[in-house]
Amino acid sequence: MNSLPVIDNKTILTPTGGFLGSGFTHSVNPYSGCGYAGPCCGEYCYVQHNVWLTKGNPWGFYGVKTNIRDAYRRDYDRLKSPRRGHPKRLRIYCSSSTDPYTPQEKSTGATRALLEEMLDRPPDALVLQTRSPLVLRDLGLIAELAARTTVWVSITVETDYERLPGLPPHSSSPADRIEALKTFRSSGVPTQATCSPMCPIEDLPAFANALDEAGDRIICDHYLLGDGSKHGLRTKRTRFPQMLEEAGFGAWNTLEKFFEVVEYFKGVLGEHRVLVSAAGFNTV
Ligand code: SF4
Repeated sequence: MNSLPVIDNKTILTPTGGFLGSGFTHSVNPYSGCGYAGPCCGEYCYVQHNVWLTKGNPWGFYGVKTNIRDAYRRDYDRLKSPRRGHPKRLRIYCSSSTDPYTPQEKSTGATRALLEEMLDRPPDALVLQTRSPLVLRDLGLIAELAARTTVWVSITVETDYERLPGLPPHSSSPADRIEALKTFRSSGVPTQATCSPMCPIEDLPAFANALDEAGDRIICDHYLLGDGSKHGLRTKRTRFPQMLEEAGFGAWNTLEKFFEVVEYFKGVLGEHRVLVSAAGFNTV
């Protein structure tokens, strides 16, 4: 842990606004930046466009927050203190600008520390969003928390390709992520698969069936809808759309293809289990 850059922080709960503003009161980011910036998802990561965070640096891992336990206790007690009027609602999205199970989590345990604090001070709702099967390490802790409050384990599965042609390798196998979702679901923890940003899908019927088994619901998004800019302008400035074109996946740059897949998912999972973009992400 000492060899990693550390970021001193007095507070860990950040009020939400914008994309997550209607479903969540706060986001939590145990890390600054993300260790998965190099692999495939780093190409289409929405967070790389946050200049306040990157400060003009290349998108990557910047550091681990310190004093997370103290900061969470302090922030929680301030929000829930009866001395300050009615206790405020606390609906947390973890995480909005990093992956709480970035590879550095193995050694720092920062996210795990936060979850341990939440057992004593449970938020009103928690969405734990990752693309790493490392989240399975905390299965027992998360299941315990889910017995005390609303918890969703949310794992990105944006494609069924184990290696998307024309793009760098994934940070983890999509099949392993689906298995992780199944494990949580069979342990009684509500699960959602986020197909976001939707990438080319090789075998749609098999993928839909796998998601049907793994997720209580699916949230679908496309960079043209959800990257935080009008008509996906931010993503269009990256090389991602071009990479899709060159690999023969140009149709996946369109909303026609996106909604065709959404309709297919609805046919398999049922309308109410397939949610779209911001409205979907904000459903807790
Ligand atoms: S894991 Fe998430 S935050 Fe990290 S690089 Fe990939 S998309 Fe971005």
